[in-house]
Amino acid sequence: MNQNLYSLLASGFPKTDRAPCMILADGRVWTYGDVERAAGRMANLIVALGLKPGDRVAAQVEKTPEALVLYLAAIRAGMVFLPLNPAYQRHELEYFLADSKPGLFVCRPQIRELADELAANARVPHVLELGDDGRGSLIAAAAPQPDGFATVQRTTADLAAILYTSGTTGRSKGAMLSHGNLAHNARTLHAYWHFQPGDVLLHMLPTFHVHGLFVACHTTLLNGSAMFFEPKFDAARTMKLLPQATVFMGVPTYYVRLLLDPAFARDTCRTIRLFVSGSAPLLRETFDEFRLRSGHTILERYGMTEGGMFTSNPYEGERRGGTVGFPLPGTALRIVGAKDAPLKPGVVGGIQVKGDNVFVGYWGMPEKTREEFTADGYFRTGDMGSFDADGYVTISGRSKDLVITGGLNVYPKEIEELIDALPGVVESAVIGLPHPDFGEAVSAVVVRQKNAAGAALSEASIIAAVKGQLANFKVPKWVYLVDELPRNAMGKVQKNILRRHYSPMAPR
Ligand code: AMP
Repeated sequence: MNQNLYSLLASGFPKTDRAPCMILADGRVWTYGDVERAAGRMANLIVALGLKPGDRVAAQVEKTPEALVLYLAAIRAGMVFLPLNPAYQRHELEYFLADSKPGLFVCRPQIRELADELAANARVPHVLELGDDGRGSLIAAAAPQPDGFATVQRTTADLAAILYTSGTTGRSKGAMLSHGNLAHNARTLHAYWHFQPGDVLLHMLPTFHVHGLFVACHTTLLNGSAMFFEPKFDAARTMKLLPQATVFMGVPTYYVRLLLDPAFARDTCRTIRLFVSGSAPLLRETFDEFRLRSGHTILERYGMTEGGMFTSNPYEGERRGGTVGFPLPGTALRIVGAKDAPLKPGVVGGIQVKGDNVFVGYWGMPEKTREEFTADGYFRTGDMGSFDADGYVTISGRSKDLVITGGLNVYPKEIEELIDALPGVVESAVIGLPHPDFGEAVSAVVVRQKNAAGAALSEASIIAAVKGQLANFKVPKWVYLVDELPRNAMGKVQKNILRRHYSPMAPR
């Protein structure tokens, strides 16, 4: 049997090729037939260019139906798809192209000159354009190609995609994902979240990332159902489209923004059966307020580029706020301390995972790959967390965000939760800043509400408020009040930026 992921996805396509796949903001509809034929033409083009199975197809393009078709065409033709965030600039692109050596680079027309220069340096043989309007030399070149294409034979171990991690520390690493990895996660999520005929997904996530490209698109394609394919998140558009959708997937920021609209209420969500959140921690406050306003309990799940989804709150059964639920079927997850020894429930340690969804390794970094896997095949995620007595997993943050002050470990989340609960606080980020005595000092960057309670906040009042509730070494030494926290495209707070910014200000 062909283990090409495209074959699996296509097995879910509806019988009639006139069934809608993507519904666009301007009302145009791409049917499953349109998708299949366009992917066929593009796959034929990629092969005609001379690329061989295993060659990389890199794409730095905006989210359009054509961009999704390019992804499908690449895997269908046995190539390795390499999506790049359109926000990446020259020096980032230079690295990605030189590191991955793609056979084809698809760029936006705006950067054609730069793309040619970088492609020449990295010896990338082909550059084609795909514009934000879905047009460009890629589409023109594919147009005369035949619609039919025999999906290239692949095994579960063959690579389907390389996704570069955000690289907040050190060099960005290319996570190699196989057809088997992606197929396993697609099947698991499709079943676990009860995807069903007639589902309509409201898709507002970017498609250069695991969440928008794999989690959202694979479940929908495998289900053969439709999605509103929006270029990006927009609260007003969400308000308009939610009543026509059944599933919504978002990063926590989307939920926070939706709640800012006073009109958001139960009626807005009358057709929805599932709200999913992930990619960054969902604040307890957001979870609770969302339930109050919408009558829905957000399902929070946890995963990463290196393996798709690892845990999920249950579809049926209690979805517990502040937790990311249970390990998914087929994923073994353990929490370990020193020497990789498993820890008891309630104790925070390193999260390790193993399963068919866990990636193959880092592209061109066999050493790094070896370091990140244990002798018995578990991947060290770099996240810290714990099990509770009922088996729910709670994430305490990235291990590199752990603050070590006077030799004692402080998990930022514990302090952030206390600060977030104070009147006048929107949210907070706790980081370690250099301290002459303690090595690092616990420090809090706090976003205040734009009201009287927010205006009344000060460094002293925040420190005083948490003092009685925490061991002294965990109480922030320094507090900085700000208007917002720096976040990346997936809504993750960029603590590396905060550390860089505040380190020089830390009192010596
Ligand atoms: P990425 O590879 O960009 O998807 O980032 C993965 C990282 O995001 C994980 O290693 C976690 O640190 C974080 N993450 C993802 N989902 C959650 C979640 N539900 N709660 C807390 N952190 C999360």
